[in-house]
Amino acid sequence: MTEAFTYPAPKLFIAGVWRMAGGGSTQPVLNPATGETIGDLPVADEADLDEALAAADAGFKIWRKTSAYDRARILHDAARLMRERSRYIGSVSTTEQGKPLAESSAEAMACADIFDWFAEEARRAYGRIVPSKHPGVRHMVFKEPIGPVAAFAPWNFPTTIPSRKMAAALAAGCSVIIKPAEEAPGSCLELARCLDDAGLPKGVLNVVFGVPADISTYLIASPVIRKVSFTGSTVVGKHLAKLAADGMKPTTMELGGHAPVIVFEDADLDLAVRLSAGAKYRNAGQICIAPTRFYVHDSLHDAFVEKFAAHAKSLKVGAGLDPATAMGPLANRRRLSAMGEFIGDAIGQGATAAAGGEGIGGPGNFWQPTLLSDVPNSARIMNEEPFGPVAVTQRFSSFDEVVEQANRLPYGLAAYAYTRSSRTAADIGDALEAGMIGINFSILTGPETPFGGVKESGHGSEGGHEGLEAYLVTKYVAQG
Ligand code: NAD
Repeated sequence: MTEAFTYPAPKLFIAGVWRMAGGGSTQPVLNPATGETIGDLPVADEADLDEALAAADAGFKIWRKTSAYDRARILHDAARLMRERSRYIGSVSTTEQGKPLAESSAEAMACADIFDWFAEEARRAYGRIVPSKHPGVRHMVFKEPIGPVAAFAPWNFPTTIPSRKMAAALAAGCSVIIKPAEEAPGSCLELARCLDDAGLPKGVLNVVFGVPADISTYLIASPVIRKVSFTGSTVVGKHLAKLAADGMKPTTMELGGHAPVIVFEDADLDLAVRLSAGAKYRNAGQICIAPTRFYVHDSLHDAFVEKFAAHAKSLKVGAGLDPATAMGPLANRRRLSAMGEFIGDAIGQGATAAAGGEGIGGPGNFWQPTLLSDVPNSARIMNEEPFGPVAVTQRFSSFDEVVEQANRLPYGLAAYAYTRSSRTAADIGDALEAGMIGINFSILTGPETPFGGVKESGHGSEGGHEGLEAYLVTKYVAQG
């Protein structure tokens, strides 16, 4: 960045008002590249949450009666502002989350695409007329907004993940209380500012921060909230799903993953390395669909490791605001200790560090892009989501064997395969237990395609037509 940039002071956004917490409580926001405190985040108490609930309740009554056409206009206007402000929003994200500015700015542009997509979907929330067996009776099916939504978003994509939730819910006619991650609050607040500036009625969107478990417990128990959406770890997702079940509230759960990548004997090796190494180290590996477990055919394994390791070693690690940086710091210090434990355990069980393997000193949370080869299934990293810049390899020789390995974990979010055979591509697409599969391709996120997992990676989809459907209920009216 050449122009001066000041990190904006974080606030709560409740009933259209930008303010600190009623009780005056705050917690620090840290820059992960320097360890410095960059802001004081207001910590909402129950009185603040009650205000947010009342605002969402009142906002829903206004917004559900706003025509889909007018909702779309406001969402498109907000998308335009996001594009105009993408570099600024990107700078906010990079300063609080760490990823390179080019990634953050591109993500702010992607938010605009998400809002544009859902603005259009809002106008196509069609019901239907069902032919009746009773003379003179009309069977009408309507799609209506489900009601006020409680949404919880993590720190790894601090603009696009909140966008998927807010854009879909707002397009459907729902009001929203969102709790973005306390580690990266400014990004979502800047999106809220775009919506506010675009004329979103007050109370339709509310942004709160605080103690995650306290806020989710309080909001989900409220009779005002009719739908819960969460992105984060499987363990927290299961907990929130149980809270939601008490009020029979539907949930969308985007949880952890541990994506297998199968490199078949006939794969284009250069393509497999280029696409998957790029996807692995993007955002320092803190991506739920990051390729992680590489199953490489015996005949290609060593060449794959050599090329992948060369890529990992070539990446410049540094502060995200430095234009030369290819990989930024990890978002918080918890991830650094997690990397150390995963890698130490794997090497202790016979794995080889073909690239990286260690932290990088300094005040920031930097870790080397790492590749571990020949990692046994008993290693923790073969079973738990690493959520960091570490890839692991194993060798395989038969299709059935590799399918068994790829599907052996309770996760089922993303999976990838590389092959030149259309027969193998079709067979592996059928065999993998995953909500999203990339074959000779690595980009699985777009506003127009469904994003979601199976098994313990969650349920429901964000994106695509399914993304809007998640915030609608079906009402049948029989008129005689
Ligand atoms: P964590 O489980 O403590 O938190 C994950 C996210 O959930 C955070 O944003 C946190 O604020 C939120 N959260 C935690 N408890 C909550 C609660 N009771 N109610 C509402 N929100 C709550 O883990 P972490 O150390 O922040 O992140 C590490 C792990 O989280 C990773 O191993 C990864 O599995 C998972 N994660 C997944 C995603 C994803 O995109 N699916 C994103 C971020 C983190």
